Amino acid sequence: MKPEINKLLREIPSMDELLARSWVAPYEEKLGRNTVKSVFADVIGEYRKEILKGTKKGINVPELEKEVIKRLERYKRNSLRRVINATGVVVHTNLGRSCLSEEVIKAVSEVARGYSNLEYDLEKGERGQRLDHVEWLLCQLTGADGAVVVNNNAGAVLLCLSALAQGGQAIISRGELVEIGGSFRIPEIMAQSGVEMVEVGTTNKTHIKDYREAITERTKMLLKVHPSNFRIIGFQSVPSREELAEVAKENDLVFMEDLGSGVLVDLSVCGLKGEPTVANCVRSNVDVVTFSGDKLLGGPQAGCIVGRKPLIDKIKRHPLHRALRIDKMTLAALEATLRIYLEGRAHEIPTIAMLCADADTLKKKALRLKRMLKRAAGDFFDIEVVEVEDVVGGGAYPADTLKGYALSIKSNKIKDSELVELLRKKKPPVIATTAGGFVLLHVRTILRNEEGLLIDCLKEVAHERS
Ligand SMILES: *Cc1c(COP(=O)(O)O)cnc(C)c1O
Repeated sequence: MKPEINKLLREIPSMDELLARSWVAPYEEKLGRNTVKSVFADVIGEYRKEILKGTKKGINVPELEKEVIKRLERYKRNSLRRVINATGVVVHTNLGRSCLSEEVIKAVSEVARGYSNLEYDLEKGERGQRLDHVEWLLCQLTGADGAVVVNNNAGAVLLCLSALAQGGQAIISRGELVEIGGSFRIPEIMAQSGVEMVEVGTTNKTHIKDYREAITERTKMLLKVHPSNFRIIGFQSVPSREELAEVAKENDLVFMEDLGSGVLVDLSVCGLKGEPTVANCVRSNVDVVTFSGDKLLGGPQAGCIVGRKPLIDKIKRHPLHRALRIDKMTLAALEATLRIYLEGRAHEIPTIAMLCADADTLKKKALRLKRMLKRAAGDFFDIEVVEVEDVVGGGAYPADTLKGYALSIKSNKIKDSELVELLRKKKPPVIATTAGGFVLLHVRTILRNEEGLLIDCLKEVAHERS
């Protein structure tokens, strides 16, 4: 080893010396001695590597300490935090999909705080069923005669396939072999469930006779999957649910549909047309329907399964049901959300309210925010209200856009990309987009109680950069 490298390595203070610094104690208290030690070790390790490679020519101890502090600060903050969604994507999977209303949050916090009758029958004083809290609600709202709820919809599909078609074949149209959100791919889920996939038809057209002709004595299921995040437009057709149900019945097969988003109420009044409600599917004789709890339903993450009682019973008995079971906080949130539907107050569910917010209301909201921002930082930003296209997200209505409004902001002191980055680092972080050199803040997804916070974040940026 070259002597100058040796000399540099010796200039790095020892771990004990560093741990004795006065600023270390508060971090130790909050994060534990081992965490602090391992962060020091990481940074020292990186310094050593650079010295050995010859890329570091001097040791700056205050700089080393600063780097350690930066990393410790990151650990000190909660990792999972609320953010302000100014993207206009309502069911944004990366931003946590659905927001819950106050009454739903209250139901969760009450159950979380103490013991509950999660699996206890209060009338009989004996063990009860976890699903009893929501099964009847799902049945009421969809017309099905049985329901199961698990951790998420991917789990629901896996469970249904395993319980109802394992060891046999399931027939699916080539136009429905989709991938959703990166890791959920229908062919892989089928393989995982031990179901042999039989593809029929073509990407754009599948006929009922394609299904009929593919049936063998090993066939157990006809599977329909919502194409979610894409649309085939033009020369395109698939058989109706009624036709598929009939063929399934004639051949003693299960007809299952993975609906993905799963709307409980007709959203055509809000201009969103062409998606069946879960009740529509049940009425069209689909035997088992699966859908997410946190997409268009607007509740917590969950996988809902509704359908015919004998099939639901079979699903409940499968060992995967236990492995994928829903937890009590989620169950509380789901029950409270479903009750809002039962009482005919769907418009009070934040996801539904955001989707159905009309252009007029959004424009007023944008103008209000513009006035607030003008007052707070009008010298720094150029602010306009512009018309934008919002989207539903979560794989629903991918071809539809919602007419929305955004604040379009710009400053000659800061680039758009830099402003977006600074906003992301605020407390709370603001997630915005850019278009043509402007930063866009779509107002549809900004909650009422976030408006003041958003303006404060922008004001801070203006102060930092003026
Ligand atoms: C979103 C979606 C899933 C996965 O649901 P998660 O709740 O995210 O597990 C499965 N199938 C379809 C058709 C979907 O749209």
